[in-house]
Amino acid sequence: MAAVADRPRPGDPLDPDAAISIRGLVRRYGDFTAVDGLDLDIRRGEIFALLGPNGAGKTTTVEICEGYRARDAGEVRVLGEDPADGARAWKAQLGIVLQSGSGDSQLTVRELLRAQASYYADPRDVDEVIALVGLTEKAGVRGRSLSGGQRRRLDVALGIVGRPTLLFLDEPTTGFDPEARRQFWSLIRSLRDLGTTMLLTTHYLDEAEALADRVGVIARGRLVEVAVPSALGGRESAPATVSWTEDGTRRTEATPTPTAFVADLAARFPGEVPDLAVSRPTLEDVYLQMIGDR
Ligand code: ATP
Repeated sequence: MAAVADRPRPGDPLDPDAAISIRGLVRRYGDFTAVDGLDLDIRRGEIFALLGPNGAGKTTTVEICEGYRARDAGEVRVLGEDPADGARAWKAQLGIVLQSGSGDSQLTVRELLRAQASYYADPRDVDEVIALVGLTEKAGVRGRSLSGGQRRRLDVALGIVGRPTLLFLDEPTTGFDPEARRQFWSLIRSLRDLGTTMLLTTHYLDEAEALADRVGVIARGRLVEVAVPSALGGRESAPATVSWTEDGTRRTEATPTPTAFVADLAARFPGEVPDLAVSRPTLEDVYLQMIGDR
């Protein structure tokens, strides 16, 4: 991928090549400013995770991009069009997995997907999609009889059956068990391999780290930082923590040069350094620090 600045500056022109290009976005609810001057480009083919505490403005931003909410100021282009006047052909290129989900239905999984597929010119094969989300055994079961995690998979299936170019996933794995989450991650990766661009919101930092090419942290309606997950908050160059056990006591040392430190340590011990561990700040560490500072 070409080296591109991680985020546009206020006043930069919209990026015509981006899947989503946002400049100076503002949304108010009465006196309250929920989105307060947001500039962001999401590249075609990437998985972008929007992170932020409850009420930060993620859903508002995402729904403006989907064409479901109006904005008060700023410019937005999604797949080259302004979502405020997105036509039917434009909408057909989007896949949307909402937070609220599909809920109760008397229809079966297969019936629901067939109905959804019928809205699109070139839908995916319904049974292939059911297999992709791991619901083959439940294809003939009514939506209302599915477990919470299975319903979420159904939501994802409904979002991708139209073969979207751009998929919005709002907290997609809430309620998944750990195994289902891993399966979901591999589904998302296979969609990326098929060329789908994805905008994901999640409160699971491990999910963002596992899936996202880039993450953006939003707090109080403003974008705090955009970076690859390994570099967020200067993580990759932060001091490492080395810990080990010596004379029956757990020892911990923060160091900017862990390799040299461990080499010295190794020279002091005849064999293995007992309980040796080297760690850097996790994505969660830097994220909590970042939003705590706001
Ligand atoms: P969460 O992680 O809880 O889903 P979020 O980052 O998606 O949060 P938004 O749903 O975008 O946050 O809400 C941003 C702010 O705007 C919140 O303070 C919320 O109360 C407020 N807000 C959202 N929708 C409305 C509305 N229709 N009327 C008034 N205020 C609203």
